[in-house]
Amino acid sequence: MKKIMAETGELKPNTLFIEVAGSGLPEVDGLFVPSTAPSAKSESGTASTPGYWNGRMAWDRADGKSARSPALSYSNSYKSWRICRLDGHLAYDVTCDDEMPPTDREWHVYRKGVAPAPKVVLHYYDPREPCPMPNVVFVLGGPGAGKGTMCELAESQLGWTHLSTGDLLRAERQAGGSTAAVIEEYMTAGKLVPNEIIVSLLRNAMATVTRTTGKNNFLLDGFPRSLSNLEGWYEIFGRKTELPKMLYFECPYAVLEQRVLSRARYTGRSDDNSESIKLRFDTFKAETLPTVEVFKSKAKCVEVDTSQDRQAVYEVVCNNLAEYTNEKFAAKPLTERAEILLGLRSYPNSRKA
Ligand code: AMP
Repeated sequence: MKKIMAETGELKPNTLFIEVAGSGLPEVDGLFVPSTAPSAKSESGTASTPGYWNGRMAWDRADGKSARSPALSYSNSYKSWRICRLDGHLAYDVTCDDEMPPTDREWHVYRKGVAPAPKVVLHYYDPREPCPMPNVVFVLGGPGAGKGTMCELAESQLGWTHLSTGDLLRAERQAGGSTAAVIEEYMTAGKLVPNEIIVSLLRNAMATVTRTTGKNNFLLDGFPRSLSNLEGWYEIFGRKTELPKMLYFECPYAVLEQRVLSRARYTGRSDDNSESIKLRFDTFKAETLPTVEVFKSKAKCVEVDTSQDRQAVYEVVCNNLAEYTNEKFAAKPLTERAEILLGLRSYPNSRKA
């Protein structure tokens, strides 16, 4: 099947870039670009076209120095992905049938390779160029307003990427980097973490997703939570670009408190207790509501009434994301998990033995 597609020229153009790093060999580490090897018949008899070899995508070194073109390709005879040295000798390989060079497992060090094996990262955009601008919708609402559920639905059903600033901060605190202690201090106090930390986390997370998955639609949950967050946004993306739309989830405090306390049992979050909720809600009123007002005054805020049933809320969300949602996703039937989240199906009972 693959062979036929390659021969009939139905393959979509290879526009992907591969970054190889960590082998320590200057002739292996570096950037690989879609192969320009001319059309030929390979050893295994497969017709190859520029960008493709043996019916699969293939890459050359970006500096054009490799003797063998392509330098990163699939061998049908050995059933393996392989990376060559400058002289054309095989250095690293992975025996598998994957469509793409594996990025999630260790490559095998071949006779002419030197340990350690490099790590391979696939890029949807040329890493030498700036990352394309993301399509962003901000999602705000008090703790427990239901943002997480709607963002999960938008991610699984509509192909958007959900980034929660709270989750990014928790991951960063967990990773224990230079900012972990500061993050811990602010989060436990229910106060907003300093702007530089949050803005650079967001920028890096969006760029990584876009470059490595090609996905460019983002729901930013929990941002901008203060006027200072908004300033940070302007600093990165400039004042001239249009301000993204905001979905603001409205919910009365008593309902929020009730929801957060009942979820505390399974989230195990150190800030899901009465005292922290009160602090977080006070912070929300003092810092976030003025930001919501800015969006309202610019006619950029969509107020979502979360006292409606979940399906009605989801419909509002879908309509507001439609402008950027890929048609392929818009037509996708609801998954079982989505039906559970929307209250159309009950949570599965505990499994029978
Ligand atoms: P959340 O998971 O959204 O409830 O956030 C938990 C905590 O992370 C908040 O109480 C803040 O301390 C911090 N945080 C989350 N988002 C932001 C943000 N955009 N700016 C500053 N701090 C934030």
